[in-house]
Amino acid sequence: MDLSVVIPLYNEKESLPELVEWISRVMKENDFSYEIILVDDGSNDGSWQWIAENSLRDNRVKGIKFRRNYGKSAALNTGFAQAQGDVIITMDADLQDSPDEIPDLYKMIKHDDFDLVSGWKRKRHDPIAKTIPSKFFNWTTRKMSGINNLHDFNCGLKAYKNIVVKSIEVYGEMHRYIPLIAKWEGFRNIGEKVVEHRARKYGHTKFGMERFVKGFLDLLSISFVTRFGKRPMHLFGLIGTLSFLAGGLVSLWLVGEKIYFNLQDKVVRNVTDQSLFYIALTAMMKCSHVILRTEIPIRSNKRSISEF
Ligand code: UDP
Ligand code: MG
Repeated sequence: MDLSVVIPLYNEKESLPELVEWISRVMKENDFSYEIILVDDGSNDGSWQWIAENSLRDNRVKGIKFRRNYGKSAALNTGFAQAQGDVIITMDADLQDSPDEIPDLYKMIKHDDFDLVSGWKRKRHDPIAKTIPSKFFNWTTRKMSGINNLHDFNCGLKAYKNIVVKSIEVYGEMHRYIPLIAKWEGFRNIGEKVVEHRARKYGHTKFGMERFVKGFLDLLSISFVTRFGKRPMHLFGLIGTLSFLAGGLVSLWLVGEKIYFNLQDKVVRNVTDQSLFYIALTAMMKCSHVILRTEIPIRSNKRSISEF
């Protein structure tokens, strides 16, 4: 199969008929064999009824339904697991991304040998409250990841080699950083294509202002996991060892001082009467606490799927 189009959706009933019709038209015009995987992320507006009916009429339209709203990352991750095409396209369900971009994206993966091609909504039809913070995120992510050729990490329209989607795990709200996750799994040939962006036609955005707070926290966690995920001892082990050494040296000093003054028959406070001793003790205990509590972050996000 040439292509799988994976579409996460949460309450997008009005857009679905137009979207699926448009994708199908582009596929047929280009003679592609394809499947459209609609991942219903717990909608309650009747989106699933539409999907269920249409997948009966056309077996290239497939549906996955979550029992509740797990988020866009979980929806993409589950769609990726099911996708069978050589090239996987992801796009939003709200008609903001244009299916007319699919043939060029396909060529870039298939013939130009990119592992991943990310769309760039150069001319964006979104409110300014969204576009300015987004510039900051893209700048920071570029600097952090070393993927300097991408302008729009969070663009919903992307294309992947099949092996890429089978190798990455998108969880939490990490859909904003998929190129980074791919690079981290060893896929370095990452390209960009300027894509048409359209204003939302139906419904409303599913991400409020909290997107920036969550996005920032995810950026911190991904930068941590990227650097220390597979070798957390290099960070915690270092802190733990330094704290143990400092505590140990101070304790030795206090005990040594006590013995020295005792031998000279001078009066000196008991070691246990000195607050410094307790600080040293805490520093040494902290060391074992840090080391024992350090584990490799587990990157799994199993969830229940009620129907296919
Ligand atoms: N979406 C989803 N689960 C969610 C939130 C969003 O599957 O919890 C889908 C949504 O239906 C749309 C895509 O993710 O297809 C992008 O969402 P939206 O258009 O609201 O984001 P924006 O374009 O405002 O960044
Ligand atoms: Mg949108």
